[in-house]
Amino acid sequence: MADPILKQQTRRDFLKSAAKLCLQVGLTPVFLGCVTRETATPEPEAETEVEEREVAGLAFEPAYLSLHNSGELKERADELWDVMQSCRLCPRQCGVNRHEGMTGFCRSPGTGLVISGHHAHFGEERPLVGRGGSGTIFLSHCGLRCVFCQNWAISHLGRGSDSDIDKMADMMLRLQANGCHNINLVTPTHYSPHILKALDIAAGKGLRLPVVYNTCGWERMEILGFLDGVVDIYLPDFKYWDNDVSATYAAGAESYPEITSEAIIEMNRQVGVARPGEQGVMERGLMIRHLVMPNDVSGSEDIMAWIAENLPKDTYVNIMAQYTPAHKAYDYPEISRRITREEYQQVVQRARELGLTNLDIQGMGWLQG
Ligand code: SF4
Repeated sequence: MADPILKQQTRRDFLKSAAKLCLQVGLTPVFLGCVTRETATPEPEAETEVEEREVAGLAFEPAYLSLHNSGELKERADELWDVMQSCRLCPRQCGVNRHEGMTGFCRSPGTGLVISGHHAHFGEERPLVGRGGSGTIFLSHCGLRCVFCQNWAISHLGRGSDSDIDKMADMMLRLQANGCHNINLVTPTHYSPHILKALDIAAGKGLRLPVVYNTCGWERMEILGFLDGVVDIYLPDFKYWDNDVSATYAAGAESYPEITSEAIIEMNRQVGVARPGEQGVMERGLMIRHLVMPNDVSGSEDIMAWIAENLPKDTYVNIMAQYTPAHKAYDYPEISRRITREEYQQVVQRARELGLTNLDIQGMGWLQG
């Protein structure tokens, strides 16, 4: 009898059930937001086309598969699990014993796992979305906690449901069965041991999608070593150029610029320049995100210059225009507005002058001049 989790589903079936689920759990704005963004709405397609793509997707061999087959993925997951005994999973390095239920800065509940949702996301970068969507798993809590975070209820307050490793593995398989192109782990750092354990289980049950590590970029080199050969696509932010700025907006994370730049170089070493596979869907590589902020507080032009000097010129860089003041942003007058069209265009122009050739440029029609 066919495994119900692995049962193939058409995209139309999925969208119906996803919309129903969103309505049930109060995620309507998230779901609707995903399908109404400029790059978010795939054209309707014939069901036979979907089936062909799903078969083609399963032919891809992800990085973690050989580590799973050799048993190394399990060993690494166990080692990483031990790191939580004196937690140093992220640069906060709280040193709390999460095995004894202690909670550090990120507020993750000991070794527990909290997940706020999982679904096909059509609002991510186009090469991740394709036609089937990006199989997103939103992890609750965060070790960085920016004051303007739009997802503050999830990242700061930890909104979500108690989960476990087996359930997470099932989510991965379900997203694959639903025709998603990847497993997109949002804010993964403080749950990296759980992720490796879940991946090992899911790989044994047939998971073959590339893994996207969708991180704030503030990653320790030691932990990235555990992820080498596991992650297929790194999707880091590069948020701040200035130490005082990162300390101000990211709860004292003064080290953000140095640690993130070092981490991004390591990510590039591991997976290289992102180049889409067949049908324009990304399977491996580094994709950097940079959010342009008002009054250039994020140091956008300096970050573009750093990328141009330290990474290949065809590094994928998504220059994001969607900054919106949220959470505590109104306590900081300089970031209490959206960016202007001129502010965005200036960053794009500078990136082009620097010779960056693989820019993801967003529509600016809704930005004020
Ligand atoms: S993952 Fe959480 S507990 Fe561990 S070092 Fe970071 S903030 Fe502290």
